[in-house]
Amino acid sequence: MARISEAETERLKKEVANERLVMGFGVELKRHGAELIGTCPFHGDKTPSLVVSPKTNLWHCPGKCNVGGSTIDWVMRTTGVSFRHAVEFLRADPLY
Ligand SMILES: [Zn+2]
Repeated sequence: MARISEAETERLKKEVANERLVMGFGVELKRHGAELIGTCPFHGDKTPSLVVSPKTNLWHCPGKCNVGGSTIDWVMRTTGVSFRHAVEFLRADPLY
């Protein structure tokens, strides 16, 4: 297996729109100032606590989960795959 370069992972973290990944997972996002908010899929969220920042391209659930991260972290968390598989998943995305 080819080694995943730092440049490649940085590119995937920046160029793949987190917003689109989150919505692709079925989370409805609404604009809230500079951020987008939606219902966190990782805990029984009743009031939208998931924050996606288009500026930094990071996501965060500051509530119960207290987790967040990059596009790669999102794929790992939503699909339960390893870092390598998450990178492969994003690379295979036909839009990028
Ligand atoms: Zn959460």
